[in-house]
Amino acid sequence: MGSEITTVRILRRDILHRGSGYEKETARIKSECLLARSRIIRLDRYGKQLALSSESGKVLCIHLGMSGQLQYLPTKSRLENNRHVHCIWTIRGPKSSGRLIFRDPRRFGGIWVFATLDELHISRWSRLGPDALDIRSRSLFQQLIRTRKSIKSALLDQSLIAGVGNIYADECLFASGIHPSRPSNELSTVEVTRLAKHLRKILQNAIRAGGSTIHSYRDGNGEVGTYVSKHQVYGRAHMPCVKCRRPLCRTTIAQRTTVFCSTCQRAEN
Ligand SMILES: [Zn+2]
Repeated sequence: MGSEITTVRILRRDILHRGSGYEKETARIKSECLLARSRIIRLDRYGKQLALSSESGKVLCIHLGMSGQLQYLPTKSRLENNRHVHCIWTIRGPKSSGRLIFRDPRRFGGIWVFATLDELHISRWSRLGPDALDIRSRSLFQQLIRTRKSIKSALLDQSLIAGVGNIYADECLFASGIHPSRPSNELSTVEVTRLAKHLRKILQNAIRAGGSTIHSYRDGNGEVGTYVSKHQVYGRAHMPCVKCRRPLCRTTIAQRTTVFCSTCQRAEN
C-alpha cells in the first residue's frame, strides 16, 4: 500500500476492457486508465479477481480467469520468460520497487478499468456468488439448491461460487466423497457441510503453499508453487486412488478434465 505505479507497458490490447463509468469515452484505453502515475491506496480480492484502487478513485480489476497469473519481480530480478505477458506495471514503493507482471496464456482473464470502486462492485462483483475461500455451509446450500447442473459445473460457475478453478474443484469433491456428476440440488445438507469445509480448507492451504505448479502457476513473488505435490486426484487419472487403491477415472464435465474415484465418491445420496 502507498506504492506508486510509474509506468505501464501494454503488450496486448485485446485483454483490456472498459468497465462502466467509462462507457462514454470511445478513445482507446490509455496507460493512465491502467493507473500509470497513480498511487495505490487499496487492494481488494473477490474470487479470482483483484482490484487496485488509486488515489484518484480509478480502479483496475485484474481477472485471473482460468490460467492468469500475477508475478511481482523486484527491480534487480530479470524477467526470464516473457511468453504470454500482456501487461507490466513498474512500481515504486516505500519498501521495495519492481514490476508487476500479468500473464494469461489462455486469455480467459483480462483487465477492466472502472471510474470508481462502486462501479466495479455494481457491474462485476455483485454478479459473483459467495467467495469460496470463506464460504459457510448455509450459503453454499442456498446456491446449490437453485441448480440441477452437476456439482462439478456448479463449482466452476463463478456466478454461483466465486474462486474455484478446475484443480481445486476435483480436489474438494474427492475430499468430500461426492461424485462430480451429482446434480447440485440433490446433495444432502451433510454433504454440503462437508464440501464447504473442504473448500475453505483446501483453498486456504493452497494459498499458504503458494498455489499449484500445474499450468506454471507462480505466486506474487515469482516463486513456483508447491501445492502440486499434495494433489490427490488432479493429474492422477488411471493411477491408484490414495484411499482405496483402485484406478482413478477421467471424464469431461463442463468442457474440463475431471478426475475422480468411482468407489470413494458417491454417485447417489
Ligand atoms: Zn477410491
